[in-house]
Amino acid sequence: MAYRKRNGSDTWHWCTNCSNWPKSDYDSRSTKPASGELCNECQGKEKAGNCKS
Ligand SMILES: [Zn+2]
Repeated sequence: MAYRKRNGSDTWHWCTNCSNWPKSDYDSRSTKPASGELCNECQGKEKAGNCKS
């Protein structure tokens, strides 16, 4: 799983089907980020079993 955060934002995304998934101008991590916020939409998709990574 990869985490992405758009530059200038504090929210991390990990579902490629998130409507806010950064496609350019982003920072990425291969592990769960220790700081910053986790995207609500990504969390909702994960709970629903609908998170594509
Ligand atoms: Zn997201």
